[in-house]
Amino acid sequence: MEGSDTINTSSSSSSSIQPQPQSVVVSPCAACKILRRRCVDKCVLAPYFPPHDPLKFTTAHRVFGASNIIKFLQELPEAQREDAVSSMVYEAKARLRDPVYGCAGAICQLQKQVTELQEQLAIAHADILNMQSQHSNLMALIYMEMAQSTTTIDHTKTTFFVEDTNNLGLLLEPLWDINLQLV
Ligand SMILES: [Zn+2]
Repeated sequence: MEGSDTINTSSSSSSSIQPQPQSVVVSPCAACKILRRRCVDKCVLAPYFPPHDPLKFTTAHRVFGASNIIKFLQELPEAQREDAVSSMVYEAKARLRDPVYGCAGAICQLQKQVTELQEQLAIAHADILNMQSQHSNLMALIYMEMAQSTTTIDHTKTTFFVEDTNNLGLLLEPLWDINLQLV
């Protein structure tokens, strides 16, 4: 396998296996440094395991093994490799933290949280509906009260109005008479 070959090309056999030695990178990637192999120009691990972050590779290496990591990466298009490395490191961290459940433990816990939050949300929705119906009931009561009070006001107004018109009528009556007299 190509992946495991790359790993096994240690200092003892590299000169005999590689007829055309590739250009060696001056500062090896974290993976090659830990694996004690030469980091070549087109090292598949170098873009994802920079020399300043050796823990990232050690974590993934402890759980998946270097040859598997290389194999996984070689099977993927380059655009997806960074995400694959991130998820492998995440999974490895979870596995080291929780040797029994690993990532599945975190997923189960999050699913439990989702269920609990959905229940809370349903309760909140029910509360909102309840409050909305209470609010509309209250509004209906207020409208009824207002309608009752306005009718009484209207009544007094109309009585005043009637009185006013009567007064006006009384005032107008002589005018009419004057007019009639003028005609
Ligand atoms: Zn490398």
